[in-house]
Amino acid sequence: MQIQQYGYQFNKIANLQSKQITYFLVCSVYMSTIPQSYLQQMQKLQRDKLLRNRHEITRMPNGYIIKNGKTLVSFCDNDYLGLSFFPELQRAAINAMAKYGSGATASRLITGNHPLYTMCEHKIANIKQSEDALLFGSGYLANLGVITSLARTGDLIIADRLIHASLIDAISLSGATLKRFRHNDTEHATQLLHKYRAEYRNCLLVTETVFSMDGDIAPITPLSILAANYDSILVVDDAHGLGIIKHEYNSCSAFMLQIGTFSKAAASYGGYVCASSKWVDYLLNHSRSLIYTTGLPPAVVATNIAAIDIIEQNPELGVRAMENATQFCEITGIRAPQSAIVPIVVGKAETAIKISKMLEEYGFLVAAIRPPTVPKNTARLRFTFSASHKKRDVINLAHTVNKILHKERVGL
Ligand SMILES: *Cc1c(COP(=O)(O)O)cnc(C)c1O
Repeated sequence: MQIQQYGYQFNKIANLQSKQITYFLVCSVYMSTIPQSYLQQMQKLQRDKLLRNRHEITRMPNGYIIKNGKTLVSFCDNDYLGLSFFPELQRAAINAMAKYGSGATASRLITGNHPLYTMCEHKIANIKQSEDALLFGSGYLANLGVITSLARTGDLIIADRLIHASLIDAISLSGATLKRFRHNDTEHATQLLHKYRAEYRNCLLVTETVFSMDGDIAPITPLSILAANYDSILVVDDAHGLGIIKHEYNSCSAFMLQIGTFSKAAASYGGYVCASSKWVDYLLNHSRSLIYTTGLPPAVVATNIAAIDIIEQNPELGVRAMENATQFCEITGIRAPQSAIVPIVVGKAETAIKISKMLEEYGFLVAAIRPPTVPKNTARLRFTFSASHKKRDVINLAHTVNKILHKERVGL
């Protein structure tokens, strides 16, 4: 109704004056606000301290960043191995762009499947000891593609309560019935399978190797046995495991697919799934998030390849990231880390933001993670450690955290 009114006025004025100027003015009025119902949602986010903003940040080597002209040490990016400034990755991207052009220019199934794709899929399959692999535009797109290809209405998905938002989105889009088990609780997953499995056609068991906001590790071997026993397929998201934790299992079986991303330890971009070649053929024919989107730019895939080579040849990088996380935990009195991610749960979103701001004043960038990224009342500081962090910065961070938590009387 309001829009029609504006439209009417627009037409009337447009007849009298220069159409372009009027169009600009009407658009300006529109752009300065949004309808009341949307504004109210934003006001609620503001009241609950859940409003999100864009911060401009310039990254530099060794975990340093510049924000508002100030140099800080970042403990909140996922560059666990510090690869983002490796000259090998930068050179690979430049050479690929020179040789293959700037963009893939079409879907992989049309003309977007440049030769680097084959090499990258071969390498990631090899590092994961899987028969084959398939690259997607991102980890998010890989999760959408895999889950929606494997599960539909009439199928069942049994998932860990703390799985990543991209998996949750994929599950909603699939139309399958979702039942969630308590975090890392194989017993509860067994109970759910026992109770519901028979009522459904296909069943997926979904979890992560390393949980993105908690940093702990899933019981993959028991879950894979469980999946096999209940004629189900285990789908594991290894976004935060690559380069950090060794996998004791094989991702190439009829009962298991492993998803991952090049956006974290590989310091690049693009998602992948590792599985048997039969699964890869199936996914290639069913994943809409692969079929209906343009292939990754050659420079990105070349960067991924260079990253895999470095990860394979330099296992000490993952070890160094873990040493930094361990040292932080020792000084702050937190139990030993299972990955490069260390959370300190503080409860209220407001408290998390306050501590994050204080840390920033001391020169450390640490993200306050709030709902809906994590469950209600579990807002936290999420510290991530990298092989490229200087020891001195890790130690200073730990002492600063101790000082702030002591002053704030915030329990760990
Ligand atoms: C980051 C992340 C993704 C998404 O990967 P992108 O490549 O960034 O889209 C998926 N799953 C988990 C667990 C993640 O942490």
